[in-house]
Amino acid sequence: MAMDLSGVEVSGYSLGGFASCLDLPGMKTCVDLGRLIDSTVARNTVLITHGHADHIGSFAQHVAQRGLRGLPPATYYVPPGLGEELEELLHLWRRMDGGALPATIRTVEPGEELRPHAGVVVTPFRTRHRVVSQGYLFETETNKLRPEFVGQDSQALVAAKARGETIVDPVREPLLAVTGDTTIEGVLEHPKVLAAPRVIMETTFLDDRIDQSESKRKGHIHIKDVADHAGLFQCQDLILNHVSPRYGPDQAHRLVREALPLELMERTRVWIGDA
Ligand SMILES: [Zn+2]
Ligand SMILES: [Zn+2]
Repeated sequence: MAMDLSGVEVSGYSLGGFASCLDLPGMKTCVDLGRLIDSTVARNTVLITHGHADHIGSFAQHVAQRGLRGLPPATYYVPPGLGEELEELLHLWRRMDGGALPATIRTVEPGEELRPHAGVVVTPFRTRHRVVSQGYLFETETNKLRPEFVGQDSQALVAAKARGETIVDPVREPLLAVTGDTTIEGVLEHPKVLAAPRVIMETTFLDDRIDQSESKRKGHIHIKDVADHAGLFQCQDLILNHVSPRYGPDQAHRLVREALPLELMERTRVWIGDA
């Protein structure tokens, strides 16, 4: 069932170490392919956060399903260093499959901008995990009339354009940040992520069975890391996902509620997704 983040629809699934795949239908994009989710087969743009199997294990299935449905090859954006390995894997899959399995794999560097859909800009940001990893910041971009042209009629605007004048400026608004796997440092280092109105953030560990320092060693966020920096999150919607399967859903909700200050808890949801 899709989740509504103040007007942005998200569906999919994310359970720590098991599988992660988020579908963002409004942005015609999905993030990670740890499991194949039917709605994501239609996505031409796939953003991969890192190379762990729970985030990319269903890559070949996505490629094959698009072929079976007669869809053109999708573009799979990966962090630096992952492209060659994925090409190699795809080559082996093609040998085993006997089919063409067409796909475009592109490396995208942190800070490089992608435009998967009109009016949407996606920028990867470097995160900190056990392997090279990145999250993705989504922004909307609209054209805003320059102040000197506000109130002018369309004829005047057409004339100004014909004279070669710039009548609009692009305006960016942050929409959503998706962190993928990271320690809390991989979030705190990015003011734009902390300022995003909607944040989907991994929070794998929720109690002292794995404490904060062990969680950091494993390259993950502990709920106490979130509590320690609660004042920095400006979002109206904070979605905590990628929770370790050692916590049942009820227990996960209770541990998060107990750990977070009320003010942040009111803006926070724990989300695993559809099984
Ligand atoms: Zn993971
Ligand atoms: Zn990982």
